[in-house]
Amino acid sequence: METILVVDIQGDFTEWKKGSLAVPGTGEDYVQEVLQITRRFKEAGHPVLATQDWHPADHISFHTSHPGKKPFAAVSLEGREQILWPPHCVQHTAGAALLIDPSLFDAVVHKGTDRRYDSYSGFEDDGGVWTGLDQELEKRNTTRIILYGIATDYCVRFTALHGLGRGYAVTVIESLCRGVAPETSTRAWEEMKSAGAVIVRDAGDTRLFS
Ligand SMILES: [Zn+2]
Repeated sequence: METILVVDIQGDFTEWKKGSLAVPGTGEDYVQEVLQITRRFKEAGHPVLATQDWHPADHISFHTSHPGKKPFAAVSLEGREQILWPPHCVQHTAGAALLIDPSLFDAVVHKGTDRRYDSYSGFEDDGGVWTGLDQELEKRNTTRIILYGIATDYCVRFTALHGLGRGYAVTVIESLCRGVAPETSTRAWEEMKSAGAVIVRDAGDTRLFS
């Protein structure tokens, strides 16, 4: 079974909602396109899951949790590199809300809920705690994940790589992804491809329905 996974389509990541961490190319037209394609997959009978970045207000990935540090600075936390982001997707705020009709989703998986750990991956946080995505995929007998969303170079990338690492086939739809920066996005596409992900240009690709 192929399961659709829509990554982090949330107000704070979009230009449309003037988000605190708006990713380039995420106007209303982008979100509408994601909505339309997701609806098509749903109508074709695919299970549809979503991830939602869901942070406490004092989350460790926020520059405001590190006095004197500026947004986008890189720091070392217990030996891991952590980029410090503007506060975003704080639980129960408008910026954290999913922008896609929630009735399309069979389940929504929260990530980054532990203040001590970031979680670009939809599967597990930096502390190694699993989010529940695996169980949702298993429950639906998933063999292939078709994924897209925000951001190519962070959450899409890590979710794709962790999916491959857990033995799922992974297809990523390029036209439905947006990246924080061009260089890191280019590297992310190469990394996903060499790890075994199938990258298709858009949802018209016949391989999606074979
Ligand atoms: Zn986050």
